[in-house]
Amino acid sequence: MLSQVERAREFVDVPDDVYPQLRTPERTLKVSLPVRRDDGSVEVFEGYRCQYDSARGPYKGGIRYHPAVSMDEVTALAGWMTWKSAVVDLPFGGAKGGVVCDPAELSEGELRRLTRAYTDGVRRVIGPDTDIPAPDVNTDPQTMAWLMDTYSRYEDHAVPEVVTGKPLEIGGTEGRVEATGRGITIVTERTFDYLDTNLDGASVAIQGFGNVGSVAARLLDERGADVVAISDVSGGVHDPDGLDVQALLDHVDTAGYVEGFETVAAGADAVTNEQLLTEDVDVLVPAAIEDVITEEIARDLSADVVVEAANGPTTAAGDEVLRQRDVPVVPDILANAGGVVVSHLEWVQNTQQYSWSREEVNRDLRQRLTRGFEDLLDVYESRDVPDLRTAAYVVALDRVAAAHEVRGPL
Ligand code: GLU
Repeated sequence: MLSQVERAREFVDVPDDVYPQLRTPERTLKVSLPVRRDDGSVEVFEGYRCQYDSARGPYKGGIRYHPAVSMDEVTALAGWMTWKSAVVDLPFGGAKGGVVCDPAELSEGELRRLTRAYTDGVRRVIGPDTDIPAPDVNTDPQTMAWLMDTYSRYEDHAVPEVVTGKPLEIGGTEGRVEATGRGITIVTERTFDYLDTNLDGASVAIQGFGNVGSVAARLLDERGADVVAISDVSGGVHDPDGLDVQALLDHVDTAGYVEGFETVAAGADAVTNEQLLTEDVDVLVPAAIEDVITEEIARDLSADVVVEAANGPTTAAGDEVLRQRDVPVVPDILANAGGVVVSHLEWVQNTQQYSWSREEVNRDLRQRLTRGFEDLLDVYESRDVPDLRTAAYVVALDRVAAAHEVRGPL
């Protein structure tokens, strides 16, 4: 995250007094979460909330449940939330939270108690005007409902606006679950317009079949692209004539994983995650976790364009190789901003006790991402920056630095 900021710095006029503030998080809370397991024992989990920057507004960002969560990881992710909100010009700063755990090994009751313990731990630093969590890897609307409920108990009244990505019954918005995947489709369309090529019949490989990857697969397929390869943690499947995305969704519904689809779908073969990333396709969409496009993968990568749906899927060394090879990468901080864009709409609706239609939400999402893309292209074409990622950081750093500056000297 910091190397990306560093690269953009030479193209932005960030005052010397402000720059060190952009390189360090404002604060990070580490909490110990005692949770009663179903067998009666108590296990203490480790949780974090990193609040990176609030110059432009309340901290905003998701909470992930994953064994690889660490203070360093939430810090990088909180930084990315800061730049992401700024690229699409939302009035938010950036934050991220996480709990070190393997949710596959926890029952629903254990996950609920873990979420209540996490909320107890961080409730003094979150709030509708200070820091608004949302779903991320392995958390979903149900997790957000437990968080909202726990927070509201302390306040003695319902506080839906403390969290976004909630179920509709308690103030969630139409279109939020799909928002990140829909955003990927919108950004991919804009990228193809820009490159003057046609998305109809274009081949797509998607790594990850969770909330983001599965929605992106379905919508890109509906939009006329050929989704030829999809994977998840279990492995992947490939069909040069295009996969039947709906049949794969049904398979995952019953089998739990992508693995095995090749045995029920004619024409599909099994592929590893590594093979998927180097597949000869028009678009590669990494939609899982960080650091999957390494230097080695970047050398073997055959896609014409990469659209980053995950946060931080390309390592610094991988990025360097792709830059040298002139492979366009639509950076995560724009490409996957659809989630936080619709989170903002949900928060606005909650603070006004009003709700919008799916059409209104989707229209606003399209407008905001399109504007973000145009702002990025403006910089790319006028300031001689080396790639689209650097252009996105220039837009973001400009905005965050300007907010620090106008708020006045220390
Ligand atoms: N976790 C999502 C992200 O990384 C959404 C964050 C939000 O809506 O606050 O962008």
